[in-house]
Amino acid sequence: MRKQDFSPTVLDFGPVRFILARHFGFCYGVENAIEISYRALEENTNKKVYLLSQMIHNQEVNSDLQARGIKFIMDTDGSQFIPWDSITKEDIVIIPAFGTTLEIERLLADKGVEVQKYNTTCPFVEKVWNRAEKLGKESNTIIIHGKPSHEETRATFSHSSINGPSVIVRDMDDAIQLGNYILGSKSRLEFFEAFQGKYSDGFNPDTDLKKIGVVNQTTMLAKETQAIADFFKQLMIKKYGEETIKGHFADTRDTLCYATNDNQDATYELLKNDADFAVVVGGYNSSNTSHIVELCESRFPTFFINSENEIRSKEEIHHFDYHKKEKKITYGYIPYKNSVTIVLTSGASCPDTVVDKVMMKLAGYFDNLKKLEKVIDMF
Ligand code: SF4
Repeated sequence: MRKQDFSPTVLDFGPVRFILARHFGFCYGVENAIEISYRALEENTNKKVYLLSQMIHNQEVNSDLQARGIKFIMDTDGSQFIPWDSITKEDIVIIPAFGTTLEIERLLADKGVEVQKYNTTCPFVEKVWNRAEKLGKESNTIIIHGKPSHEETRATFSHSSINGPSVIVRDMDDAIQLGNYILGSKSRLEFFEAFQGKYSDGFNPDTDLKKIGVVNQTTMLAKETQAIADFFKQLMIKKYGEETIKGHFADTRDTLCYATNDNQDATYELLKNDADFAVVVGGYNSSNTSHIVELCESRFPTFFINSENEIRSKEEIHHFDYHKKEKKITYGYIPYKNSVTIVLTSGASCPDTVVDKVMMKLAGYFDNLKKLEKVIDMF
């Protein structure tokens, strides 16, 4: 019963109230990946331990792993920190929760590195690969709704491409663009230009857009994912008619993971409340966190921060504008009034302790606070 309850928790300190999302913070995949990474370090004290790229999109966790000796081979955008030549079969390489491409798996296997031992690929990401495989085997072209440069989407694209023609759409604008090639209103040359780097080798827009299915990066915004699938279905109905739609569009459920769904559902519940502002805590390159920010922004002034350190004082907060991908400073973010209400939540790659620190730092700016023990007594 509790699992289906998305209503927020209210922590009332008197002059400040926090409305906390029912679901936030670490997901199964992240906990699993962190556990395996620390185990890899413990079991291999005399070896070099590498992570393919960031374990998760959380700076604190990544910094802690680095401090304990783990080295990152690549940046999140794929640029190389450590040349492949310096990795040997004696080394330990951990695959992050996002998974990796088949090309990198092969490269490591050719070197004799045992990648499966510390492979932390989340089972919900593997589920997307399995769905893509099934779609490909049923002769569908696989449309991947995801961020083209995100590690997970790159990995999914690689796995999907061996099972069928694949193409990535980032958002509805991309979907509408692709729709033009499905309807034949734009040429194949325009396709190759518009979707450069986002289609599989040998993709033929003339023949590969007649039978399609959609999979998603696990952390996309649920309503956008649904809108894109509906858009393609309607497009195929327009082109081929309702009677034959089954032969042209694979009507499957989205491949968002449970954590994305639960965190987004819990955020919709937050939006039903009145509040002075919202604080969303998470890594600035975290996809799932950015969608929670997007939802909160539709209702409250929202500050996206990665730790309590971004709250500089009662007057000044440093935060991330994910639309412009830049840091901002806002002064006077806490209104001067007797009772302030703050919505608080975090993304799937943020430790709960950070949310705790954010809450206590904000609460510390108010006088005559009720004691924490008293506030949580009612739970
Ligand atoms: S956000 Fe979802 S897919 Fe990603 S690691 Fe967590 S549970 Fe797995």
